[in-house]
Amino acid sequence: MRLFDAHCHLQDPRILTYVPQIITTAQSLGVTSFAVNGVSENDWQSVKHLSQSHPSVLPSFGLHPWFVAERSPYWFNSLKQYFDSTPSAAVGEIGLDKGSHGRSIDFSEQVEVLKQQLELAKMLNKPASVHCVRAFGELLDIMKSMGPFPAGVILHSYLGSAEMVPEFSKLGAYFSFSGFLMSLKANKAKKMLKMVASDRILLETDAPDALPKANIDSLFFVEGDPSLPKELQGQSSTSSSALGTSLNDKSQVLTDASTLPKETLNHPANILLVLDYVASMLEISKEELAELSYQNAVRVFSYEGSKVLHT
Ligand SMILES: [Zn+2]
Repeated sequence: MRLFDAHCHLQDPRILTYVPQIITTAQSLGVTSFAVNGVSENDWQSVKHLSQSHPSVLPSFGLHPWFVAERSPYWFNSLKQYFDSTPSAAVGEIGLDKGSHGRSIDFSEQVEVLKQQLELAKMLNKPASVHCVRAFGELLDIMKSMGPFPAGVILHSYLGSAEMVPEFSKLGAYFSFSGFLMSLKANKAKKMLKMVASDRILLETDAPDALPKANIDSLFFVEGDPSLPKELQGQSSTSSSALGTSLNDKSQVLTDASTLPKETLNHPANILLVLDYVASMLEISKEELAELSYQNAVRVFSYEGSKVLHT
């Protein structure tokens, strides 16, 4: 089984030092590629470095809505320079956020920054990875006014409505699902997933965020995660336990992810749990979903200059 993590943040300072081990573990489980998204001027260099040192890392550069207020006057020039020097890069993470974190950031500035970056993605013929929280109506209007997007727009950790799926699809959207999907009511998730055409589904982890809600003995943990309870320290992705067998002796105390601290770090190998969940909602086999989401990811990431074309 091959899997493609269509959206994650391996450059995040919480996990950066563990990346070689994280990649090795995830690869041993069939994850061949990691679309690593920058979020602000401060981490683009780190994303670029990861891409240079790991063939499996596909870089993306973008200014995330949470970091719009602190952007420098040169942010857009700097962004364009990153694309000049890194032809393998896609655009992301960009977007709109009216949630608990985003609503303190001026929305008209978020819109302006998003539009600039969507325009750039169109001009460069690259896909863009888009974050959207409580602003799907606004996002759809913007995409309608600027679209379509033949190189693709990846609606990452999509939690929008079923009704909007066909409208976004017409404009070139892909729908990428992470552990956050488990926060939706199952019947709502099912209804929405069934609206997504099979050639538009992607899977992602958004690691180190979005730890799936699952049994602790099926989860993969990041070695060295300081937020892990003592009982789970050392039961990390390097141990045989995380490579398939369970943490049985621990599971009497801690049985599911809701008992873990909310800062617990997500590991890209947990894409297996996202796969399980989405496959069960769609009532198709894991193997079928793995392969079709893999093919979709390869298609959207096969723009000119991409590493995917060379693998
Ligand atoms: Zn993200």
